[in-house]
Amino acid sequence: MFRIPKTHPRYESLIKREKLVAGMEAGITSKQGLIAHGRGEAFDYLIGERTLKAARRATEAAAVLLLTAKKPVISVNGNVAALAVKEVIELSELINAPLEVNVFYRTEERARRIKALLEKQGAEKVLGDKADARIPGIEHARAKVDREGIYSADVVLAPLEDGDRCEALVKMGKKVITIDLNPLSRTSRHATVSIVDDIERAMKNLISVVEDKKKKKGEGKANLLDDYDNKENLKEVIKEIVERLKGVEL
Ligand code: ATP
Ligand code: MG
Repeated sequence: MFRIPKTHPRYESLIKREKLVAGMEAGITSKQGLIAHGRGEAFDYLIGERTLKAARRATEAAAVLLLTAKKPVISVNGNVAALAVKEVIELSELINAPLEVNVFYRTEERARRIKALLEKQGAEKVLGDKADARIPGIEHARAKVDREGIYSADVVLAPLEDGDRCEALVKMGKKVITIDLNPLSRTSRHATVSIVDDIERAMKNLISVVEDKKKKKGEGKANLLDDYDNKENLKEVIKEIVERLKGVEL
């Protein structure tokens, strides 16, 4: 990995790029994944590279959904594996949900490498190698999922998901939680709960909210979900961005 001095003002952002390049060289992240990250970075600049209030509200709703799910699954693609491998494993243990390797540009080799990475880092249940079912309405290899994983799950946490697939999963009757820096993406607009934040920040927040709620044993769970409206929350995200941009000093 290229050495970045800690004093560099863009240190954190540069480290993320290095992680993705290392992920690509290890056959985990796709080249297209690098481009997708660039789109995310641009939105992170607008957001101010910090967690918005609306993202915190979405995280609360996401935690309730995960904790009340009958069969939750966490989907892991090449960017998620490169940027937040420890966090997805920690969350999967906390909510007792399997991880499913689910890559957009699917090659068996890449799926196998991501699975091996997750297992090496301590993940106990990793699905995705069978890919013995298909998401209806999606063509080609990117429709493939595991029958005992995403296909039969009631709640899917699918960070950095593709818009088409997110929509198709919702049409199957699933509740989909996504993490996506772009509040305008089709993924953000179609998901049940969209956390508009960087994957690493969002996962860390989600873990701490889930831990907190587990300690409090479910007080006020149902209410929180009744009050949550994803489209309204996305409008709040956009409002927060606009307000910040209006006040920006150059
Ligand atoms: P959609 O298909 O949902 O309309 P898209 O085509 O823009 O959107 P994809 O290229 O399918 O999106 O997926 C990349 C998405 O992931 C982008 O919307 C981008 O904002 C988001 N993204 C990239 N890197 C990160 C990151 N580090 N944290 C959170 N989100 C990210
Ligand atoms: Mg897309």
